[in-house]
Amino acid sequence: MVASGPDDAPATRLAGEAMRQIEAHGPSPEPRAYEVWFTHLAGRNRPLSRALTAELTETPRLEPAAIDRLYDQYLSPNRMAAHAEKASLGVLTEIDSVMGTLDDALGSTTRYGDRLQEISKDLAPGVDLELIRNAVSRLVAATRETASANRALESRLKETRGEVQDLRQALESIRTENLTDPLTTLANRKHLDATLIQAIDHAALSGEPLALLMIDVDKFKDFNDNWGHLTGDQVLRLVAMSIKGAVRPTDTAARFGGEEFAVVLPQSSLKSGEIVAERIRQTVMGRELVKRSTGEALGRITVSIGVASFMTGDNAMMLIERADKCLLHAKRSGRNKTVCEDETVEAFSDVA
Ligand code: GH3
Ligand code: MG
Ligand code: MG
Repeated sequence: MVASGPDDAPATRLAGEAMRQIEAHGPSPEPRAYEVWFTHLAGRNRPLSRALTAELTETPRLEPAAIDRLYDQYLSPNRMAAHAEKASLGVLTEIDSVMGTLDDALGSTTRYGDRLQEISKDLAPGVDLELIRNAVSRLVAATRETASANRALESRLKETRGEVQDLRQALESIRTENLTDPLTTLANRKHLDATLIQAIDHAALSGEPLALLMIDVDKFKDFNDNWGHLTGDQVLRLVAMSIKGAVRPTDTAARFGGEEFAVVLPQSSLKSGEIVAERIRQTVMGRELVKRSTGEALGRITVSIGVASFMTGDNAMMLIERADKCLLHAKRSGRNKTVCEDETVEAFSDVA
């Protein structure tokens, strides 16, 4: 049973309770799991609580993938919205302040004009030298005053330019964060979906080929069971880097979810897709894993890869499904393999 406390429950009690729930239901006490549990126990996010409770009725243990799903769906977007709101409020405040400064500057220019007019009246024909001297010194004073207001405006504008630049960077990093998988820094699922849709549109219009790889780490559950989730996370990062290192900058390497990855390869035939897949597979199996903290040898891991290529009429789901069938075929035929869709035409009948 998963308890849900009132909104004003003391934070330390909630923190202790969150840790106890993590111990009872998993996965490991990493920040995302903690945040999911804490938010649930604080009763602050009903949809999250409902989804979490539903997960736990299916199975008493929460997998890291379940925490990722809950976090991405119920917490991460809130955070994005809050960041975006804060950043745009910053922009608005900044604009208000610039408008105020401009008003001040315009006021001082108007005052300057008024004063010049006053002075010019005093300079009517026949005025004496003393009056002229006096008028000139008033002119000088008014000019100085305006020049100093202009300098203040200029420095304020420079500051504003810097602040607007900072806000732009903040918005840019929110955008990137929104499209990046935090564990591996590869594209996240949302980014992959958008890229694949675009790539398919482009392939359909241009007639250029397009390949898709689906990659799954072999027997990763065993690896986690042997070495622990945190070490498993390091290995996922290593696999991600191996994938990234094997593709072109114009390709999109993404974390599909859990220990599955996908790569979109524009302008690539099935054959080129297969070559890239083999490069990835061999790079991963060629790495001897060593636990960073202790230097302990962890052996090697392997990946299985399915390769499909765009066919007229395909949408993203169809292409993913075909690559996935190839992946399943690679798993069934012994793992640590690349399977292309042309090799599996017959095999599809028993996998469908
Ligand atoms: P197969 O060769 O058939 O793919 O076997 P498998 O054990 O890799 O597949 P299975 O789907 O049974 O298990 C996937 C495992 O991946 C279980 C889950 O704990 C682990 N996993 C998923 N996401 C993460 C993660 O973010 N970090 C860690 N450390 N493990 C993860
Ligand atoms: Mg899997
Ligand atoms: Mg696997």
